[in-house]
Amino acid sequence: MRYSRQYLDSLKQYDTRPTNPIIVKNYLHTEEYRKKLIFEQQLLEERVQAARAELEETNLMHGSSMTTDSGSVSQQLDYGNVIRQTYPNAVTAENFGARLQSYIQSDSPTFTPDNVLLAASICSDDVNGPVFGNINNLGQMPQSLQAFLGPFMAGGLDGYPHAGTTGLLAYASHITSGGALLIYIAPHIGITRDGQVGYMRRRGQNYNDLSATCGAAAAAASWIVTNGVSGPAPVFPGTGLLANPSDYQFYTLVKAIYDDAAARAAICATSDFGQQMILATEAIRNAAYNIVTSPVGGTSTFKLAYDTLFSTTSPQPAVFLTTGTFINVDDGYKAYVNVANFQQYNPTTGLFVDYTSQFNEGLQLN
Ligand SMILES: [Zn+2]
Repeated sequence: MRYSRQYLDSLKQYDTRPTNPIIVKNYLHTEEYRKKLIFEQQLLEERVQAARAELEETNLMHGSSMTTDSGSVSQQLDYGNVIRQTYPNAVTAENFGARLQSYIQSDSPTFTPDNVLLAASICSDDVNGPVFGNINNLGQMPQSLQAFLGPFMAGGLDGYPHAGTTGLLAYASHITSGGALLIYIAPHIGITRDGQVGYMRRRGQNYNDLSATCGAAAAAASWIVTNGVSGPAPVFPGTGLLANPSDYQFYTLVKAIYDDAAARAAICATSDFGQQMILATEAIRNAAYNIVTSPVGGTSTFKLAYDTLFSTTSPQPAVFLTTGTFINVDDGYKAYVNVANFQQYNPTTGLFVDYTSQFNEGLQLN
């Protein structure tokens, strides 16, 4: 049974559990702000009323974890506009997965989702869990992405490919006969319905509290700010947040930001949390892309795995790679993706060839 969002929200005032330390108070929820937001939402409702029936007819919102309340489609469309104030080219994660399917199949009709093995380097966060059509859980990974085999879980904190060469080697060795490989690398960031960047509202938590997302990226950016733009390089195991030997993944995120001098300077130069989160997320995405694709000591993480497995294979298997930012949304809505690149591996050169513009041409906005 489904309850209306209003009803659920009204219940949340009775949530008396202690505040999670990662949750930051939403200072914008004054009474005046609430009234303004409700008024703006009413205006937006009217504006999209005419478009709603047509959109529902064409089923653009297929495979959703959102409620089926009347008006959900228009609210989702409006959420998309909020997201695109920060990421102008963001598309729904559903459409992104659908485009992956169509592009890969256009490369070879033999590549269908059921013989393309996906490696998902996404954050461990429960909010990135799978969406099922008949189960109302809290994950935001779209069904269109789950149509691929797997995923092999190559990520860890904030989607960095922490599984490394060993992980990619294991993954690639699971390739199906005649099939292909698809690697998806995406750190994540939350954006609330009312446009607060670096936050989201999670199920079962107080509506007026916001959850920093990605929490690990927020902590890593905080480490950078605390140590200053000219501060010492992170050492592991070190002191403070880096003291615990179990926290190697967190150290990797801190180092990814620290090593990006421009990102480090920009993060230290602003006190805007949302900006810091955008910068940190992109620095981590870029470092993740580089570690997988760029020659390190003469070979890249992926080339090492590929050559180990397929140097004498004929024909050599196709490998697709895409990186981007996974944009989490308030509970009940569909997630978005900002595509950074889409590439295909060239076994002869050991490098990835860029097809981002061709990929983006077929991306559907909403
Ligand atoms: Zn995370």
